[in-house]
Amino acid sequence: MMRTPIIAGNWKMHKTASESVEFVRELAPRLSAYLGRIECVVCPTFVALGATALTLQGSGVKVGAQNTHWEEKGAFTSQIAPNMLAGLADYVIIGHSECRQYLGETDEMINKKAHALVKHALKPIIAVGESLAIRQAGDAMSFVGAQVVAALKDIPAEAMMSVVIAYEPIWAIGTGMNATSADAAQICTGIRGTVRGIYGDTVADAVRIQYGGSVKPDNMVEYMSQSDIDGALVGGAALKVDDFTKLIELAAEAKGL
Ligand code: PGA
Repeated sequence: MMRTPIIAGNWKMHKTASESVEFVRELAPRLSAYLGRIECVVCPTFVALGATALTLQGSGVKVGAQNTHWEEKGAFTSQIAPNMLAGLADYVIIGHSECRQYLGETDEMINKKAHALVKHALKPIIAVGESLAIRQAGDAMSFVGAQVVAALKDIPAEAMMSVVIAYEPIWAIGTGMNATSADAAQICTGIRGTVRGIYGDTVADAVRIQYGGSVKPDNMVEYMSQSDIDGALVGGAALKVDDFTKLIELAAEAKGL
């Protein structure tokens, strides 16, 4: 089963709106040669989303948001509704460990967000991953599997074609301590198995699974050479045009595209 690799830059709380626009103006022409083969996504902050999306219109580079609320409107000060993102973003990251940790997001909330995104034809990038303590206890796969099951609860099979799952071990995010490609591949294969258990072969063979956590040009090929790793969710190394471009180039090379 040929899955189109997807490389997403998660900019987190970096870059103003004008910096974001400047960045993608420089980035888009450099990625154009790869876009038919690799899906490239940038995820700016909410305030930069509109300007970034406008700048990228027609470029083929996709835009992602970094979170969403599940309600369409209401008294939720500071929150952004999925219908507000429709038309601006193609993808929306949900369940990032920083949101789970600092914003108290639970599996149940992440499942509600997944339903809300699917309803508005936005594509969820569902982030999952274990802490170091869970890994050291030997429970990484059961923990991550349970996060996947919870996030996908009652999501219909048809919607799964647009869902991306990002495996990001918490201990590897922003620490420079990346997981070995064998460890990452083992969990990504396990995630595909979890999806297979719920939805069967067609969905499991089609769903794209990214690795994330200290991905950089130096280790990109190792990850992308794993058959169950279909791309990367990248923080630090996505903030520089040269590095991000290099990651796309290396993904194409590793996947033989
Ligand atoms: P990192 O972040 O690449 O800086 O480790 C990845 C992420 O949190 O998505």
